[in-house]
Amino acid sequence: MQSFDYVAPKSVEEVATLLADKNGDARILSGGTDLLVQLREGRRQTKLVIDIKNISELTQITFDSKNGLRIGAAASCHEICSNPNVIKHYPGLVDGIHLIGGVQIQNRASVGGNLCNASPAADSIPALIVHQAVCHITGPNGSRTLPVESFCVAPGKNALQSGEFLTSITVPAPKENFGASYLRFIPRNEMDIAVVGVGASVLLGADRKRFVAVRIGLGAVAPTPLLASPAGDFLAGKALTHENVKEAAKRGQAIAKPITDLRGTAEHRKHLVAVLVERTLNIAIERAGGKYAE
Ligand SMILES: Cc1cc2nc3c(=O)[nH]c(=O)nc-3n(C[C@H](O)[C@H](O)[C@H](O)COP(=O)(O)OP(=O)(O)OC[C@H]3O[C@@H](n4cnc5c(N)ncnc54)[C@H](O)[C@@H]3O)c2cc1C
Repeated sequence: MQSFDYVAPKSVEEVATLLADKNGDARILSGGTDLLVQLREGRRQTKLVIDIKNISELTQITFDSKNGLRIGAAASCHEICSNPNVIKHYPGLVDGIHLIGGVQIQNRASVGGNLCNASPAADSIPALIVHQAVCHITGPNGSRTLPVESFCVAPGKNALQSGEFLTSITVPAPKENFGASYLRFIPRNEMDIAVVGVGASVLLGADRKRFVAVRIGLGAVAPTPLLASPAGDFLAGKALTHENVKEAAKRGQAIAKPITDLRGTAEHRKHLVAVLVERTLNIAIERAGGKYAE
């Protein structure tokens, strides 16, 4: 394994200074479940590893009913999935994050790391997309925000510029008649990486028989996780019918541009997108208390 220096700063300001000093030759370590594997295999090079797990601002999870949820970039998957407010108000997030690895991985891995690693198949990202999550970024020119669907720009590459790092992810406050879910297809339990991952969220009208807004997030079917706007927008304002849900599934399928690799063929992935869009929509509808017209 290559040699590198290791530092565990105590504040966000220190992280910013260290990144600026190293001018691109430093990498953030949150849980290390991706980074250490990549350094060991020589897929990433670095002179300095900056461990951010000791900075409480970056590990905290806070919630209030007006401003919603704030997840520190280094908060572990276990802490997020066992938080009572996350369980109560953000079911799609729990679905997605709970799937990341086993117990040991869940205790180390962070959602910030899952996002920054920018794998097209990362399980948290379609779930964050349908919950309208926003990325909070700190860097040499101050702070900025980015909708989560714009954060990944290519396989393994995110939108962070030199010296920037992710500090938190925020998710809007829950609304009445809102529901969300995430499902992935894997051929067998030992195989962790999603062949296809789909998230869906619905906001229903007061009678719960009509869609007000719908978001569908797709994973592992394009170079980056996608917000399938044409599929979600098609349902907005429409009646809650099985026919409309099937049409949205077809529109989601049309957006997917999967590749064939050792885990699945493009054709199989295309088929799975329609199946999972329909299933996740139905779970989200059920969680929102929806009532089908037929
Ligand atoms: C056995 C095993 C099973 C797994 N199963 C799954 C699975 O089922 N689903 C899935 O999606 N993933 C899975 N993973 C992948 C991995 O656990 C996740 O991607 C994890 O969420 C990464 O989080 P981390 O905190 O460990 O990130 P790290 O490894 O610390 O970091 C990942 C990358 O992001 C960068 N980074 C981290 N935090 C920041 C930040 N705040 N700002 C800027 N850059 C940052 C790092 O420099 C690094 O390049 C698995 C991994 C293992 C080893």
